Amino acid sequence: MIVKKIYPVTDMMCTSCANSVQTALEKEQGVVSANVNYANAKATVEFDTKITSPEKLKKTIIDAGYDLEIDYLSVEELEQKQAQQHQKLRKNFWGSLVCAVPVFIISMFHLHFPYHQYVQGILATITLFFFGRRFFVGAYKQLLHKSANMDTLVAVSTGTAFLYSWSNVFFADFWISKGIEPHLYFEAAVVIIAFILLGKLLEEQAKGKTSEAIKKLMGLQPTSVWVKKDADWVEIPINDVQKGDVILVKPGQKIAVDGKVIQGESYVDESMITGEPLAIRKLTGKEVFAGTINQLGSFQMEAEKIGAQTLLSSIVKAVEEAQGSKAPVQKLVDKIAGIFVPAVICIAIISFVLWIILDKQNGFSYGLQAFVTVLVIACPCALGLATPTAIMVGIGKGAENGILIKDAESLELASKVSTIVLDKTGTITEGNPVVTHSFWTNQQKHLPILYSLEHKSEHPIAQAIIRQWKNIPLVEISDFENKTGQGVQAYTNNLLYRVGSVLWFKELDFIFPENIQQKIDQWKEKSTVILFAEDKNIVAVLAISDTIKKTSKQAIELLQKQSIDVYMLTGDEEKSAQNIAEQVGISHVKSGVKPAEKQSFVKELQQANKIVAMVGDGINDSQALAQSDVSIAMGKGSDIAMSVAQITLISSDLLKIPQAIKLSYQTVRTIRQNLFWAFIYNVIGIPIAAGVLYPLGGFLLNPMLAGAAMALSSVSVVTNSLLLKRKKI
Ligand code: ADP
Ligand code: MG
Repeated sequence: MIVKKIYPVTDMMCTSCANSVQTALEKEQGVVSANVNYANAKATVEFDTKITSPEKLKKTIIDAGYDLEIDYLSVEELEQKQAQQHQKLRKNFWGSLVCAVPVFIISMFHLHFPYHQYVQGILATITLFFFGRRFFVGAYKQLLHKSANMDTLVAVSTGTAFLYSWSNVFFADFWISKGIEPHLYFEAAVVIIAFILLGKLLEEQAKGKTSEAIKKLMGLQPTSVWVKKDADWVEIPINDVQKGDVILVKPGQKIAVDGKVIQGESYVDESMITGEPLAIRKLTGKEVFAGTINQLGSFQMEAEKIGAQTLLSSIVKAVEEAQGSKAPVQKLVDKIAGIFVPAVICIAIISFVLWIILDKQNGFSYGLQAFVTVLVIACPCALGLATPTAIMVGIGKGAENGILIKDAESLELASKVSTIVLDKTGTITEGNPVVTHSFWTNQQKHLPILYSLEHKSEHPIAQAIIRQWKNIPLVEISDFENKTGQGVQAYTNNLLYRVGSVLWFKELDFIFPENIQQKIDQWKEKSTVILFAEDKNIVAVLAISDTIKKTSKQAIELLQKQSIDVYMLTGDEEKSAQNIAEQVGISHVKSGVKPAEKQSFVKELQQANKIVAMVGDGINDSQALAQSDVSIAMGKGSDIAMSVAQITLISSDLLKIPQAIKLSYQTVRTIRQNLFWAFIYNVIGIPIAAGVLYPLGGFLLNPMLAGAAMALSSVSVVTNSLLLKRKKI
């Protein structure tokens, strides 16, 4: 069986580490796909349980020098683990700083007291092999696999400075005899280690903030609930709640599971899930969701969905998966980061050799300095953080606003949308239609049959009929068939009954008697007209109208202002479609379309080089959703629409569409800025480190400055991503 799992990965220090883990997983037999995200330190692995197992995967990763957490860890345990690692990092940083300061002062102010070399050397030894051990261990593990990563760069650079300095302490005469003036570089080695540890520490802290959205969502569940046992109320842990339990929700409490109100009423704040600030009124029979907060009233609810089935859990899972996904530009960046390390080692060696050749006098020591500096400044850390941190913040911010985005690619694409196609029923309108008029030839005979037919349909129109007549006894029907986008049909007493659109009946060549036609003409201006037929005769006409959502008009105006073309598509008839379109200000309307035609309409727009977003709520929209470049589903719509859609608007509010597009713009811009700064930094840093400015005025970059710059670069990238949180959408 093929399963898809997300495991936390520990001990990764840089994107190249994430690449190594990913490659190791991909090479493993039985692994179908693997995706490792450095920013959230998680691996998404799809594997065949017959061929491999989580234990085997863990072993592979340990061999590669990292670790995989395969046991299920609760949020608290995971956080505790992260906190431990954080603590270790913090200790190492402070330790290295304490060693670095005296070494730095001694060398800076030339405090050449007796044995000062030994003091420096010993402090440097402690720093490198105790506080900075991780770099050397990491580099060694990489070496065993004949590969290199950021650890390699740090270990080789500081190790070189360190060994050369010790050799100067012990064999100063040897170097002098070679014509090379002995010089100590202990301070460079220790300061680089201290700076890089500081950079890591700040980076970890900032990275933690990028996934705050998810932590916030997970923290929404209460730990215990009041449940009715026999006649008493008892408090039980949330994990013990069963489906069907009656739960008491008190004022101000968080709701624990998904379910229905069965007694009492209240207002519930659902903003954490839908992004809608207004509290929603909950009467008996209304659905309530885990994680939302009850306001002043008190009510009883019946548990319907618990644990991993709740809406909240599915949102958390979706956000987690989305944050771990890779944006298309990321693939290119990963490739570059992958060849970066070996390339940099080559550049460092070449500059060392060139120095020796070109400068007969100081070539060796300057060359060595250049070698160390190039290695330090070229670390592709910032490059690796540029995209994933922005994506994590962007997706998290979306979730906080009730915009659920499936993956990084969708988030990136949304900013390019030029055309939006909106479905009518349930998307522009509320999708809670009511029957306003009806005309029957024999209501008593036909109503129970119509009622029984619509009882089987999930269409909003069917719901309107059920609501209108309630509690009519059902008659037995057979061969029920759903003609998506047209209506439904079934047999009873060997007669075929159909209910659906006027258009469908025209296509079926029905004869429209004068009195029927008159009703149709009279009602179609303002409502959707549907017909009911027994065999070949139309026996009822119903007028159904649906209210337009309060925000639809404003949302459509906003989109048009962003110069996006807005279309409306509907399976409904022309007149009622026109009526709705006029009210919301849409001039491009296509009515009477079947599901497949909705799809081909989207395709036509795409062939005209438009990037099309399709917005819909129903099964009848799923083909068109799948065809579009960016598919947007309504949270109150059908599950099928949501499962194909890349973006789900949980509150079903169309105003969320311009927001989603703006969020996409902002995220893409942040990624561009991040990549620009990360690249510029390396592109400019490497030649300066190698010494190209030396002929111009004797400027050679100090290795310690390189260490500081490199620490700063990754911190600034993560900080820039975090700024995205503050932007208004
Ligand atoms: P939209 O594209 O606006 O969401 P649909 O494609 O779902 O609309 O439906 C198109 C038309 O088909 C409806 O306006 C209605 O006339 C008819 N129809 C579909 N299903 C049913 C049903 N169960 N009962 C009656 N009419 C239906
Ligand atoms: Mg619809």
